[in-house]
Amino acid sequence: MKILVVEDEAGLADVITRSLEREHYVVELARDHRSALLKIADHAYDVILLDIMLPGGSGLDVLRALKQQGTPGNVIIISAKDSLEDKLTGLDLGADDYLTKPFHLAELNARVRSVLRRKALGGGNGISAGNLRMDVDGRSVQVDGAEVALNRKEFDTLQHLLLNKDRLVTRGALAEHVWGDHADGGDDLDFIYSQIKNLRRKLKQAGATLEIQAVYGIGYKLVEP
Ligand code: CA
Repeated sequence: MKILVVEDEAGLADVITRSLEREHYVVELARDHRSALLKIADHAYDVILLDIMLPGGSGLDVLRALKQQGTPGNVIIISAKDSLEDKLTGLDLGADDYLTKPFHLAELNARVRSVLRRKALGGGNGISAGNLRMDVDGRSVQVDGAEVALNRKEFDTLQHLLLNKDRLVTRGALAEHVWGDHADGGDDLDFIYSQIKNLRRKLKQAGATLEIQAVYGIGYKLVEP
């Protein structure tokens, strides 16, 4: 799961980033209005934490741009400005939630989880497909009720494929969602190949009915044959 943090206050941005990384999210940071607009134009995020008062402009413009792109969902406004007007404008523009600074990190994490849940899991905290069940909060995977041991990246890879079941996921998109920024620009995505190979082997050994199909040269598709 990939989260964009739009926050110009360096100390706060750092604390939020580290806290979300501890929760196993891939986190990217935009420190001003312009870089936030560039990021959302080029990348898809599962959640966006959006400050309103930014160098160069308002976070509300970022919301407007998201709405124009047709991807207004999953925004949590984080703002020091506790004005009712900002809040209402933000929610009007499609923001999902609103947190007033200062807030507790535990509160932020809870809001992020609940937004993700609403988006991807339809309210529950598990994803089921075939005889496999993933507990997203507990970060565990079971096949026919038996635990399958996955490392962190294998889990993230499987989660992204599950959320896009029956859809083609390109290697580039997978790299971005599971590995984040540092996967950008590299043509060599061989590490994904070995990750998928291990994941396939583990699923097969566990007797999962799901299959990760390779779409040659492009990416992967999780299907239930
Ligand atoms: Ca600010």
